[in-house]
Amino acid sequence: MADLTIIGAGVAGLWAALSARKAGLEVRVIDRNGPPGPHGCSWWAGGMLAPFCEGAVAEPAVVTHGQHAAAFWAGVTDVTHHGSLVVALERDRGELARFARRTTGHALIDDIAALEPDLAHHKPALYFKKEAHLDPRRALSDLVAALAAAGVQIERAEATPEDTQGPVIDARGMAAALPGLRGVRGEMVVLRAPEIRLSRPLRLLHPRHPLYIVPRPDGLFMLGATQLESTDRRGATARAVLELLSAAYALDPRFAEAELVETGADLRPAYADNLPRITRRGRVLHLNGLFRHGYLMAPALAAQAVAYLTQGIKGDLLHED
Ligand SMILES: Cc1cc2nc3c(=O)[nH]c(=O)nc-3n(C[C@H](O)[C@H](O)[C@H](O)COP(=O)(O)OP(=O)(O)OC[C@H]3O[C@@H](n4cnc5c(N)ncnc54)[C@H](O)[C@@H]3O)c2cc1C
Repeated sequence: MADLTIIGAGVAGLWAALSARKAGLEVRVIDRNGPPGPHGCSWWAGGMLAPFCEGAVAEPAVVTHGQHAAAFWAGVTDVTHHGSLVVALERDRGELARFARRTTGHALIDDIAALEPDLAHHKPALYFKKEAHLDPRRALSDLVAALAAAGVQIERAEATPEDTQGPVIDARGMAAALPGLRGVRGEMVVLRAPEIRLSRPLRLLHPRHPLYIVPRPDGLFMLGATQLESTDRRGATARAVLELLSAAYALDPRFAEAELVETGADLRPAYADNLPRITRRGRVLHLNGLFRHGYLMAPALAAQAVAYLTQGIKGDLLHED
């Protein structure tokens, strides 16, 4: 008999399972698609652990909790601690000053060449030294491997909390259809450009088409991401790809010669305040609303859920209905 059933094996469910297992609980993890893959939002993420940059628009809780994300992840997968950079094109320089006013944890640098020789002409830049990134698909498979090592397999089955008995964590993302949960569509592109060297995520501030680029192994770059209120789960639209590629081209024209490896899209599950939360309804804890902060916030959300289940501790992300 499991002490806890977890429905959904995206980044939220997997972190909940690992945290619960580490707290000594017997857990059962169910996902209608089996292990993580292109069926879940977590598959399409950039893998940025960027609490300070996100603070430009996110609530303070994201900045506070997000600062611990890299340490959580380092216990599971490879985390690159190279910080991140924010730049703007000459004509949009005012955006950089505005971004700097809305964020903390950065330094204005003129010598970007010392960090990214290929981008020497983009100066000044904001350098967020304490930020990090990871390869999200590798991170998901490392979470699955850590669970397997702890004796937990992902069961392929469709379920709702009503189908289960005892304590249950509902981590079904958008499929949970909870009150107030909405979809924010994100579209992404993966390019291969081995001749371009970039060792940290880079954001290009742009009044219409903001872009971030996250380097991955083997000369790959993830370009993201649109942000549209939507219920549309189709693949990326031509418009989104066009906008992302145009912004990348403006950043470095060599991206025009890159191999187009992949495009993708999914709905980010979000509440009105764009903050994730644990909603308790009887024996059910709904872990949801991770918006664009699944990798940043899932470890903290899971830790709070397990602290509540095992010790009754109520954290700031817990809401009781
Ligand atoms: C383009 C893009 C870029 C992003 N970049 C970043 C980033 O750089 N950093 C960051 O922190 N976040 C990022 N995000 C956000 C992040 O991906 C999401 O916040 C996160 O993936 C949400 O995870 P989840 O576990 O709640 O949902 P999901 O990953 O969707 O997982 C839900 C799981 O539940 C399963 N399921 C659904 N219904 C059932 C059922 N009835 N029975 C059993 N199983 C079920 C599904 O199969 C799925 O596996 C990005 C998102 C997008 C789209």
